[in-house]
Amino acid sequence: MRLILLGPPGAGKGTQAGRLVATHGIVQLSTGDMLRAAVAAETEVGLKVKDVLTRGELVSDDLICSIISDRIDDHDCAKGFILDGFPRTIAQADALDELLEKKDQRLDAVVQLKVDEGILLERIETRARESAQARSDDNADSLKKRLAVYSEQTSPLVDYYSKRNMLMSVDGMKSVDEVAAEIDTILSTV
Ligand code: ADP
Repeated sequence: MRLILLGPPGAGKGTQAGRLVATHGIVQLSTGDMLRAAVAAETEVGLKVKDVLTRGELVSDDLICSIISDRIDDHDCAKGFILDGFPRTIAQADALDELLEKKDQRLDAVVQLKVDEGILLERIETRARESAQARSDDNADSLKKRLAVYSEQTSPLVDYYSKRNMLMSVDGMKSVDEVAAEIDTILSTV
């Protein structure tokens, strides 16, 4: 199964992706985690993206698409994957389409976690306080920037996938277990 989890920062994509990994035996491809790992390891990519991440801006479409394309070729992705944090722009969605076609693969579904944007800031601030590993981008300025970037650049993907009849929406305001149950119901239909 190949899925995209779509939703703003704080919508619960990481939490739900982690659960799907356990229940469906597919891997989670979180571009945010990959980039943070590159920053921590001080790789060439890491050094290049460090400041962009801290500011809450997006890294370039080309860079992130080539990272994802390489990662999908890894053996552990053969049974499927959940994209968490990618695509984030229309250009990335087009590129994903193209690269999957070249690999002779197709997406099964795009699951949108719908949340009340007003409470997102609160959720992410709580995560920042409670998280053992502080993220350099969990500060108020960066959070606001990430929410703005989402609404400008990523939210058009809702329409993009809806027009292709691939979008399935769940109510992300419910409890973790309830959201998980809704996602399972949806996935049993694809
Ligand atoms: P959030 O919790 O804000 O959803 P992520 O962990 O998904 O954050 O991503 C953290 C940061 O990594 C983003 O703010 C951005 O700088 C970078 N990033 C992650 N995925 C992408 C992507 N698909 N395109 C561009 N930049 C990305």
